[in-house]
Amino acid sequence: MAPVSGAQIIARSLRDLGVTVIFGLVGIPVVEIAEEAINLGIRFVAFRNEQACSYAASVYGYMTGRPGVCLVVGGPGVLHTMAGIGNASANNFPLLVLAGSAETTAITKGSFQEMDAISLLTPHTKLAVRAGSLDFISGAIRNAYRTCWYGRPGPTFVDFPADIIQGKASPDFKLPAPEDVFLPPPPQPSGDPAVILKAAQLLKKARSPLVIVGKGAAYAHAESAIRDLVDRTQIPFLPTPMGKGVVPDSHPLNASSARSAALKNADVVLLLGARLNWILHFGEPPKWSPKAKIIQVDICAEEIGRNAGNAELGIVGDINLVVQQLLASLSNWKYQPSQSEGSFLSLLAASAKKNEEKALQAALKPTPSNTPLTFQRAYHIIKTTLNSLTPPEDGNIVYVSEGANTMDISRSIFPLAHPRQRLDAGTYATMGVGLGYVIAAHTAYNLFSSDERITGQKPKKIVAFEGDSAFGFSAMEVETMARQRIPALIFVMNNSGIYHGDTTSEDAWKVLQDQTAANDTKSDDNKKGLRSTSLLYETRYEQLATMCGGKGYFVRTEEELEKATREGFLESEKVTVVNVVVEPGVGKKIQFAWQGSKEEPSKQSKL
Ligand code: ADP
Ligand code: MG
Repeated sequence: MAPVSGAQIIARSLRDLGVTVIFGLVGIPVVEIAEEAINLGIRFVAFRNEQACSYAASVYGYMTGRPGVCLVVGGPGVLHTMAGIGNASANNFPLLVLAGSAETTAITKGSFQEMDAISLLTPHTKLAVRAGSLDFISGAIRNAYRTCWYGRPGPTFVDFPADIIQGKASPDFKLPAPEDVFLPPPPQPSGDPAVILKAAQLLKKARSPLVIVGKGAAYAHAESAIRDLVDRTQIPFLPTPMGKGVVPDSHPLNASSARSAALKNADVVLLLGARLNWILHFGEPPKWSPKAKIIQVDICAEEIGRNAGNAELGIVGDINLVVQQLLASLSNWKYQPSQSEGSFLSLLAASAKKNEEKALQAALKPTPSNTPLTFQRAYHIIKTTLNSLTPPEDGNIVYVSEGANTMDISRSIFPLAHPRQRLDAGTYATMGVGLGYVIAAHTAYNLFSSDERITGQKPKKIVAFEGDSAFGFSAMEVETMARQRIPALIFVMNNSGIYHGDTTSEDAWKVLQDQTAANDTKSDDNKKGLRSTSLLYETRYEQLATMCGGKGYFVRTEEELEKATREGFLESEKVTVVNVVVEPGVGKKIQFAWQGSKEEPSKQSKL
């Protein structure tokens, strides 16, 4: 029998850990690892850029609750993967990155793609190690896999020098038995009973209690416990952008349409798997009441007491267990809101009504002829078309969204009935994640639904809303989708730039009709040169799909949008890109909705 190689040991270790898919981009020396993995039945999803594959692997970890694995070359490959490592670290996604590197015998000589990846990645990962001998390969992979997964999830890294990958073991080398490599899911701690009691008492005394559901709750698969909590206590809840669907958006206690009022008036907040970072305005005034008492529930002790968090009220533990403990402690207690005017629930109801009416108006306003669609109108048409094809409560769609307006507006318009079915730019507000996320979502939901934690689900269609700028970061991954036969439906919301373009609506229409260069029609203001936010309006993004056998639609009207949505949804083999020309929004102030503005994106309706 031929002696076993380093590449074979690596592939075997991954298989024995239960890895079924690797997201990567090969070259020398890691191509051998990928080939050995494929030989063992592991699916290798080959990307066009390491950034996209590292994003895909990180969110695959989030969706499945098991580490996503990414394989790349050394040097520049690792540098591009830094993007996904940063994204996994900021979002607390479990990610195992494996990379090749220069031969150990040629270090410092200027060898092929030489870089000290361990020093680079040590501050940005939970663990960064080099497998320096064939005997240590399995142990290094197992430890890195365990470390990215157990405790608070995050990225880890293993570096394999070329001579280790290509090295041959001695004839007496024994591969570890599969049962010695396999790892059980992370241990789950429950909360300190004394603090549970204190938290339960506080909730019982609250006049305006609120539950905030974050993506940590989605990651923890805590939906059944949290739905139980909301139903039994009747406390209103507010999901964060990726905490949507843990409790269905259609639930009557969903305070999303009254987000500002809920945050501003809540006196006791139960925070389930969400950090008090920018997404939640640090838990501080003016967005929050200065008197709010915040009960943080988190797997990570270091998170407790951060910003406006109260260190004495923090519960360190797994959300699933802690919520069950709280329910036991609350016994049959139910929130009895005051019915008077100005009470918490009446404030929420009034605010929700106002915001929902405003959103409905924007959605129902027909597009005048010779004018581009608004975001709201375009989304309304997409939503009604999708709803006519699949009932929203069935949850047959996974939404991916990135961009500025594109992401913020879509969040409130497309309701979710199930958790982990909306992926967006996340804690790091990373632009460029979208197409990698689409590929990961399709892989998780449609290819590995039997052997991951996603069980018993019907196949899901992946629908993406990409800003024209965000799409550009990883547009070439459309070819990856075509090659992998991923029938994703991707809308490029083309408003000619970042935040907004610098073309007026009238000029935009002319440009799109005549196909003349946008720059010729621009106003005097633009004589100084193109604005920094400007992108070419007439770019035919949809041709990226048609150039690799997919379907492309160029959409300027409501009818065209309806048709493209219908056909794209029903397509079962090919990727579809729909280039939707939307209002450029020129003249509007560029404002970051999460910071200064009073009007918040999520204040719009949850229609
Ligand atoms: P969001 O973006 O939705 O606000 P964050 O990413 O800020 O959410 O916060 C998620 C939090 O959930 C992290 O602090 C993480 O430590 C925590 N977390 C992850 N898994 C669990 C779990 N099983 N139990 C409790 N907390 C968890
Ligand atoms: Mg744009």
